Amino acid sequence: MKITELLNNDRLTLSFEVFPPKTEMGFETVKAATEKIASLHPAFMSVTYGAGGGTSKYTLDIAKNIKERYGVPTLAHLTCVSSTKDTVHARIKDMKDAHIENVMALRGDIPDSMAGCDRSGWDYRHAIDLVRELKADGGFCIGGACYPEIHPESRDQREDILHLKEKVDAGCDFLTTQMFFDNNLLYNFLYKIRERGITVPVIPGVMPITNANQIERAIKLSGSFMPRRFVTLVDKFGSDPEAMKQAGIVYATDQIIDLFANGVRNVHVYSMNKPDVAEKILSNLSAILGK
Ligand code: FAD
Repeated sequence: MKITELLNNDRLTLSFEVFPPKTEMGFETVKAATEKIASLHPAFMSVTYGAGGGTSKYTLDIAKNIKERYGVPTLAHLTCVSSTKDTVHARIKDMKDAHIENVMALRGDIPDSMAGCDRSGWDYRHAIDLVRELKADGGFCIGGACYPEIHPESRDQREDILHLKEKVDAGCDFLTTQMFFDNNLLYNFLYKIRERGITVPVIPGVMPITNANQIERAIKLSGSFMPRRFVTLVDKFGSDPEAMKQAGIVYATDQIIDLFANGVRNVHVYSMNKPDVAEKILSNLSAILGK
């Protein structure tokens, strides 16, 4: 099923993101975790992709397994930065062979070893290059990433939204946001992009922070603003793993309820291969989601 079919009806939906293992050794553990999440029957599941293609095979294996065994629609991520056309075309063929209908078209982060080097000769410099190819290829429902708090490489939000509009016009059917911890940032972003003529569905991404170590990584990844209420919670419970987990799940649940209450219909949860976290969030929202 195409993600756009899910997004275009009036139901409230929750979807989950998982990531593939880095090596063959971790495959069975990750597969089992993703199957547990799939057995909760979320609206769809996304499977991330290692920049540079390190886990490309596992992305497809996990996505295919979830779809075939549990009937959960899947969204396979694909990055293009520093890849050649041949590599990307081979990945697209693999996706077709695996009957993947939904692709998250991403640039990926520039590897540290390539930061500052001349990128003018690269086959793919921005996600839009991949979006164009997937669109021309036909048949895929295409997602793109967006950043309520501005992509770290952009000079300002005006420039970021300008490039986002170009990417959507090139063929994105929907967008998923980077994580954020203050819903007002999302509402403000939505207002601005709608004003600039970006009309495709936007799925807010919410990350339940369930241990104190995750926070540093989350800030590094997304540059996210941490609201006072959230910082207080981490200060108080960060050294008690069980308490922190409970508080983090409640905080994320609260964010999702506020999003639904304010007219958002679809929320994506960065569930990080944690079935217990996914299950708790779903049960916290059971009446709201009608499950
Ligand atoms: P782009 O859309 O190319 O944007 C990157 C930067 O370039 C922005 O500053 C943008 O404004 C600018 N830009 C865009 N087009 C142009 C242009 N024509 N000229 C000049 N500047 C331009 N990474 C992974 O490795 N694997 C994953 O699975 C993965 N999944 C993700 C899922 C989501 C929802 C999000 C939000 C991010 C994900 N990432 C993933 C991280 C992502 O790859 C990085 O944030 C990366 O730095 C940017 O990718 P992008 O697709 O947003 O790039």
